[in-house]
Amino acid sequence: MKILVVGGVAGGATAIARLRRLDEHAEIILIERGKYVSFANCGLPYYVGGVIQNRDSLFVATAEGIKAKYGVEVRTEHEVKSIDREAKPCEILDLSTGSTYTESYDKLLLSTGSKPFVPPIKGVDAPTVFTLWTVADVDKISEYIAKNSPKKAVVVGGGFIGLEMAENLVEKGIAVTLVEMANQVMPPIDEDMARIVENHLAEKGVKLMLGKGFSEVRNDGRTVVLDSGEEIETDMVLLSIGVRPNNELAKSAGLKLTDRGGVLVSEYMQTSDPSIYAVGDVVGVNDFVLGGATMIPLAGPANKQGRAVSANVLGKSAEKYVGTMGTSVAKVFDMTVAAVGANEKSLSRAGFAYRRDYHIALVHPMSSAGYYPGAGSMTIKLIFDKNGKILGSQIVGYDGVDKRIDVIAAAVHFGGSVSDLAEFELAYAPPYNTAKDPVNFAGFVAENILSGLTDPVLYREYAADKSVYTLVDVREAVECESFAVEGAVNIPLSEIRDRIGEFDKSKHYLVFCAVGVRGYIAERILKQNGITVSNMAGGLRTMCDSGEELRRAGRTWSAVDKFIRTEGHDPADIGAGAVPETNAGGVSASVYVSASASACNAASEPRSDSVRSIALNVCGLSCPGPIVQVSKRLQEMAHGEILEVTATDPGFLRDIESWCLNTGNTLLEKSSEKGLFSAKILRGIVASNSDVPAAVQGGQREKTMIIFDGDLDKAIASFIIATGAAAMGNKVHMFFTFWGLSILRKKPKMQPKKDFISRMFGMMLPKNSKKLSLSKMNFGGIGAKMIRSVMKKKGVASLEELIAEAQSMGVEMTACQMSMDVMGITHDELIDGVNIGGVATMLSSSDNSNMNLFI
Ligand code: FAD
Repeated sequence: MKILVVGGVAGGATAIARLRRLDEHAEIILIERGKYVSFANCGLPYYVGGVIQNRDSLFVATAEGIKAKYGVEVRTEHEVKSIDREAKPCEILDLSTGSTYTESYDKLLLSTGSKPFVPPIKGVDAPTVFTLWTVADVDKISEYIAKNSPKKAVVVGGGFIGLEMAENLVEKGIAVTLVEMANQVMPPIDEDMARIVENHLAEKGVKLMLGKGFSEVRNDGRTVVLDSGEEIETDMVLLSIGVRPNNELAKSAGLKLTDRGGVLVSEYMQTSDPSIYAVGDVVGVNDFVLGGATMIPLAGPANKQGRAVSANVLGKSAEKYVGTMGTSVAKVFDMTVAAVGANEKSLSRAGFAYRRDYHIALVHPMSSAGYYPGAGSMTIKLIFDKNGKILGSQIVGYDGVDKRIDVIAAAVHFGGSVSDLAEFELAYAPPYNTAKDPVNFAGFVAENILSGLTDPVLYREYAADKSVYTLVDVREAVECESFAVEGAVNIPLSEIRDRIGEFDKSKHYLVFCAVGVRGYIAERILKQNGITVSNMAGGLRTMCDSGEELRRAGRTWSAVDKFIRTEGHDPADIGAGAVPETNAGGVSASVYVSASASACNAASEPRSDSVRSIALNVCGLSCPGPIVQVSKRLQEMAHGEILEVTATDPGFLRDIESWCLNTGNTLLEKSSEKGLFSAKILRGIVASNSDVPAAVQGGQREKTMIIFDGDLDKAIASFIIATGAAAMGNKVHMFFTFWGLSILRKKPKMQPKKDFISRMFGMMLPKNSKKLSLSKMNFGGIGAKMIRSVMKKKGVASLEELIAEAQSMGVEMTACQMSMDVMGITHDELIDGVNIGGVATMLSSSDNSNMNLFI
């Protein structure tokens, strides 16, 4: 049998390998009009950005290699111009010589792919306007960048390739403006999910112009004109507006096409001509979820179709290709964006309506255990029908997005339901997962929706008519102080049972919390008390993703993101099993882990023979933990050695910069990626570092603090400042007087004899640091407990740990003799290591200090 394969990249190259493995004797000829076969087109954007540095690594196989390995004749730079379906020869143009010849076939396989759409617009042929599809394209772009060092680029189109190129151009130091005609980037996901990606793009410095068509390129490619009349000055333009199937050959041969121009194929990938098969971007493929022909230009389906079709071409057996679900994943800077199956746009086109035909579970689970360094959150949107059948899903986040979309894709492939997702037993260990996987959470929430336990309201439903709902914020008051939502009444979850009477049964309440979990608990409490209530899907996080709440509050996403990830988390989110039905709202960064747990991660190892580098991992520690660890480790190091620090505390990079300046060390490098902050610090000062204040080199400085108050919050603040100052090389004196003495109290070994007044004082004063109350919102000790629990979850050391830390750093603590006498406190009642002194001690240390604090 003689088989001609047209197109030698994804589908075609896979097919010839499988054809040969199935039939050693068939005559197989691969015709490719380009210069190369089997190249990694998916890797091209990363070659532009320099992530892939070696051009040769873009070539998965060569013509010679294919010939040697598979015995297949490969003719590159040959283009099939026409097919005579009756007599079965193809007309082929040899592009290197310009001569034409014919080649007969028994079976023909078309894998001619697609091409980027270039609109018929004035100026698109300018030398600075590019598309990216082939190796020749990437060579042109790379050469232009190398020769002209462009400063500005306009990327037209916010699909996969447009975004990948935006990222890679930014990596090259080029300022990118992204113009997109739709109101969102990333067509495979819905607008609400795209907002998260858009926020991230904006954070990375990409200027987004959504809902703007592009109408002309002027000034020899230096000016892009939009249909709004706006003009953008640029050094280069990348068009990435979409693709069209390379269907000319099939069309001229009279093969049947779909409405969208794809070659019509059967489930065996056979065209309307039994001798001709087609695979890849050029075919109208069966939509696995919704049925009917669709166009899905992706490498995975092209490869799998190329494999499946081979046995059919050879007539050996009939292998079905059941359809494509559009499972896709893309990296957008630090983010991962993934999708499978139907989205709301495709459902709407197919006549489905939200609530009537399908439902949505929207959750923000964590990628791995919250207490394990590096855990990050993701947003999962799960779409399912009334019977629980999964129709599609979209996930946006950081680590672990890819594996969750694949799990859901497997469920969709097997026609699975949301209960399958809830039941799936998935591998768990803290670095990889939570004991209930994010996919399980999505399944739990979906089951709760179907069983009527919860009635989530999407942010867009609320925004469409806010007057329908009375908005109740169930976060704690302290969280609302950081970010309040306009028009919302604050009734914290912890008070809701006692305040049921405040709810009016004639109203429809919409409750929300940070991410949806406490909202759900509040919803359950209120529902069971006869109140009409819904829960805001995704909570405040999703409200902020929409952008509207942020604009109203005049805040930027990154500022609020930090707040919601840290301060605004649900207490119940931490710790698997804390919330039986769902703790899907677990948004956490590793800053939640406790100081002691993270201290175990600190590791040092020599890195180089010439200049010794020591690695220090302080992930999970919150301020001042990272700085304290850095200070300790540097003290053990010799001048000229380098400390490479990795931290998760968002303030670390800012702090380390000033710390280095003030301590006579040199910050060599700093960087951040995916919530990990790294700094390289040289012990000592490089001669050329003129920024270092001269005073830094002039010996130790001193700080004096007078602690008069005994409130927990003030005590914590005092010790954070004290340890921070000590870490910066200061000699620190803390002088405790009056109520401040309570901070140092402990239970004495033997109860000292006291007079009546002293006994009364002893009874009224907090017995030790653990009994201190808050200066505000103490609520009979609940506030203090809350603060301690929040601090623990955020990795801030407890007051007792801070005191021990301060002592180990040499902070001098003196208890005021006079106050002790007045209050009847004995030396035995104070923690070990505290000196007793009078005002003279305090005054003499304050004389030497360049900072005196009275707290
Ligand atoms: P192609 O791989 O495009 O091969 C078609 C070949 O046919 C071409 O080389 C063409 O020259 C040749 N040809 C056409 N007509 C003729 C003719 N008449 N005679 C001879 N030869 C002809 N997909 C993903 O799933 N994930 C990704 O991350 C991803 N990233 C991408 C990034 C870029 C920059 C690009 C360009 C594509 C990316 N894709 C990605 C899409 C993926 O590469 C395609 O879906 C896949 O290559 C399609 O395979 P195919 O065999 O149908 O066509």
